[in-house]
Amino acid sequence: MEPLFGCRRKVKMIQFAQTPVIEAPMEFEHSPFCCPSCHADLQPQADRLICVNCRIPYPIQQGIPLFAAEQDDGIFKDYATDYDDHRASDLVSIHLNERRWQMLIDHIPPDGPILELGCGTGTFLEYGFQRNFTSALNPQRFYGIDLSPAMLFLARKRLPGSLTLTQADGATLPFRDNSFSLVFSQLLLHHIHSHLDVHLREMFRVLQPSGTLWVLDSNPRNPLWWFIMRQECEKDAKQIPLSLLLGHLDRMGARQIQFRYHGTMPQRIPHFLYPLMRGIEQIWERVPVLSTFSTHYLATCSKG
Ligand SMILES: [Zn+2]
Repeated sequence: MEPLFGCRRKVKMIQFAQTPVIEAPMEFEHSPFCCPSCHADLQPQADRLICVNCRIPYPIQQGIPLFAAEQDDGIFKDYATDYDDHRASDLVSIHLNERRWQMLIDHIPPDGPILELGCGTGTFLEYGFQRNFTSALNPQRFYGIDLSPAMLFLARKRLPGSLTLTQADGATLPFRDNSFSLVFSQLLLHHIHSHLDVHLREMFRVLQPSGTLWVLDSNPRNPLWWFIMRQECEKDAKQIPLSLLLGHLDRMGARQIQFRYHGTMPQRIPHFLYPLMRGIEQIWERVPVLSTFSTHYLATCSKG
């Protein structure tokens, strides 16, 4: 029997290729990329990018520029190959992806590049492209970054080749100011709790003045998280109260700050309980006090 909130302790190490697979140099003419250290231009070479100012080289492996030191990969290096197993059951995954895309799709601008921070193994993006909600979901517009090369190598196999994947630290993004029309993250903040303000400022920096920041995370007011956060893969995590996030956004000068509570679906439920849980969720979200104990919250704001 599957544990209700199971986090399998099975750990597989992903094997990094001894000889990096070098793909054609990336198209840089209209690229938002810059040196994460000094924000100067990058010069593409066959297997690396070199900053024209500070001369720091950034290797490219399997078509993915690596901007952060590999040792910063953290626990996700060990968990990459199993990470998707740690998450919700297939039925609940579809439910969560569908509902999150329904909330995100309203914020997909008609043009401009779009950045997902903490894209992991790319399952959320893959779901959106497969569902093809709108013609605006052109993979060429999308950039996914994550700290874990192991996860990105898996995402590379899953996602369209025209989508750009990049390994980088969210505290020093390798993108120019005002680059993206939408920056979004889901379930990232509780992994970067110790540098939340730095990450949010970087997300804000790379956002276009008319752009939207869309952030979904786990709501610590929901008691289910007490169990989920005891999982091995969440051992570095600390949940962010919505009020703390909203305070940061306000101090950054964000405009049109909005939030909503969202969801009550446990990560794993027996199949036959799904219709019941879905009904409970729909009612729960409409009751003002109950909804504040939902499993997730969503905050959006604009820069200008
Ligand atoms: Zn530089």
